[in-house]
Amino acid sequence: MILVCNKCGRKYFEPRGVCKCGGDEFHQEDGEPSKVECVKLFVTPSGFPEQIEYCLSSINGVKVFEVIK
Ligand SMILES: [Zn+2]
Repeated sequence: MILVCNKCGRKYFEPRGVCKCGGDEFHQEDGEPSKVECVKLFVTPSGFPEQIEYCLSSINGVKVFEVIK
C-alpha cells in the first residue's frame, strides 16, 4: 500500500501530513514495494550525524529514493 498525493501525484511509502508540494490530501494505492538497490553511506554530508542508508525502491514501476536511517 502506498500513499499518493492528490495534488502532484508524488508517491510515499509512509504516511505524512504534508507533501513536498504543499498538498495535504492523499489517497491510497495498492502495491508491494520492492527494493531495487540499497546503498550505505559511510561518509555523510555535514548536518547528518552518522551513517545513512539509502534505498532505491520501486512501486508500480515508480522508483523512489528513500532514506532508511
Ligand atoms: Zn504533492
